[in-house]
Amino acid sequence: MKKVLVAGANGQTGRQIVSILKDKEGYEPVAMVRKETQIPYFEEQNISTVIGDLEKELSGVVKGMDEVVFAAGSGGDTSDQKTVDIDENGAKSLIDASVDSNVEKFVMLSSMGTDQPDSIPSLKQYLKSKKAADEYLKSSGLTYSIIKPGMLTNDEGKSEIQAKERLNKSGKIPRNDVAKVIVQSLNSDILKNKEVEILEGQTEIGLALTNI
Ligand code: NAP
Repeated sequence: MKKVLVAGANGQTGRQIVSILKDKEGYEPVAMVRKETQIPYFEEQNISTVIGDLEKELSGVVKGMDEVVFAAGSGGDTSDQKTVDIDENGAKSLIDASVDSNVEKFVMLSSMGTDQPDSIPSLKQYLKSKKAADEYLKSSGLTYSIIKPGMLTNDEGKSEIQAKERLNKSGKIPRNDVAKVIVQSLNSDILKNKEVEILEGQTEIGLALTNI
């Protein structure tokens, strides 16, 4: 049974990741949450939890985990400082703790557009921070997959996507399908040390990912 720590488990995508993972054979999700009050939601589904904050010490949180998913984000707080604190420094600190704990694989929920941070002025710092975290992961020595979706929606997932290292277009994708891509990426042979842009599409997820 592989224990998978999901940072940002209480988020809109994170909740779907742990829920899908709970039913996947061979895996046990551990939801990293910030507050005690967030625990019952997961306990009611028989999902283990651990209290952890990306702005605090993380070594005890990652210890004993086989794989780690970063699905957290500064979310509603779009100040540049919060973005740097969570999307960049929080991610880096989780990567450091994962290296120290010899984690087998780290899956990063990144974003499309990190190569052109100036293209959307309101997202400039966010895209720069996501890029910095991605580059840090790539040079960490950890086995990784970097998943870069377009705009996230709450539409029903269709399990069909388009995926390529560079899609050279913009678009959207349901959070549910992003969660499925992340769960599939936990397999050590899928997207090993690769980054991939994903949008809604017409190719079944498993097939789309093996063709990268
Ligand atoms: P979300 O609902 O905003 O959830 C973010 C999660 O991060 C929340 O559960 C939050 O915890 C957690 N978090 C924030 N600060 C934290 C800290 N210091 N320590 C630990 N956890 C912390 O996220 P989402 O909308 O599902 O998106 C997931 C990620 O996808 C985003 O963060 C973003 O980087 C990426 N993305 C988003 C888009 C988009 O269109 N929105 C597009 C591409 C990529 P609490 O529940 O305690 O607040």
